Amino acid sequence: MRLTPLTANTFRSDGGAMFGLVPKALWEKRCPAHGDNTIDQRANVILVETDDGKMGLVDTGCGDPEWYGERERELHGLESEWLLPQSLAALGLDFADIDWIVLTHAHWDHAGALTDPDGTPVFPNAAVYLRETELDSVLGGDPLLYKSYPPKVVQSFQGLSERIFPAADNTPGKASGPAPGVTILPASGHTEGQACILFDAPRLAGSDAIPQLALFAGDNCPTQHHLRMVFQTAYDTFPLKTRAWKRSWLAKCAEEDILLLFSHDPELFGAWLHADPKHEFVISKPYAGGPVA
Ligand SMILES: [Zn+2]
Repeated sequence: MRLTPLTANTFRSDGGAMFGLVPKALWEKRCPAHGDNTIDQRANVILVETDDGKMGLVDTGCGDPEWYGERERELHGLESEWLLPQSLAALGLDFADIDWIVLTHAHWDHAGALTDPDGTPVFPNAAVYLRETELDSVLGGDPLLYKSYPPKVVQSFQGLSERIFPAADNTPGKASGPAPGVTILPASGHTEGQACILFDAPRLAGSDAIPQLALFAGDNCPTQHHLRMVFQTAYDTFPLKTRAWKRSWLAKCAEEDILLLFSHDPELFGAWLHADPKHEFVISKPYAGGPVA
């Protein structure tokens, strides 16, 4: 299996919302803010080529910025260029080549490219996998979740219902995943149905390393600046579960040399970690991805 991290979109998020309880005086040292208090973000996705010749994508990014109104684009600092089709084209691929998609969760910046505004599937041949709990949250219309799942995303799921494969929590192993060596791991925290995706012994674009495991953390650990337990987003639906997940999985990453892949980091696609008595976890080796335009 080979992983190629790609940036689907660039956008900006409110820095305070991205760091929750942490005072700006602390997060701004690591992550400088623009004048409007936003910080740079990438919507990163992982292209997965499995040994059976199939192609998968973990998360889809925001979709075409043109699909959003001017106000939304402004609010999210969504850059006008849609990078995903360009990045795939640079590898000789287009949307029709993608056989499966796994979603860490269904927020707009992860599941925004499933269909265009007319409801036409963007990936005409892809089966879509996500946790059953997350699908229930998308379709359940719980007003307590406020704007977590905007109408456009809900409509995408309704329109694609025949090719959506919910992964039940009690079968998180390979059988319920989209391909051998790709595991959908229940990781409630950022959302109740959050999944992290584990890859067995992947080769990596732009690196000679072959880690035993790589872990795409979704928004439980969106950037290199979220390694400390309380550096977590204010969007987290179950903040203590995010902390518990980090305490257990970041420790595992450090102990077992697992490559941690970031969903929104503006500079790095991932990193290897080690435990640090003062800072909990720090980067021992960055992973910047491959030479893809
Ligand atoms: Zn999210």
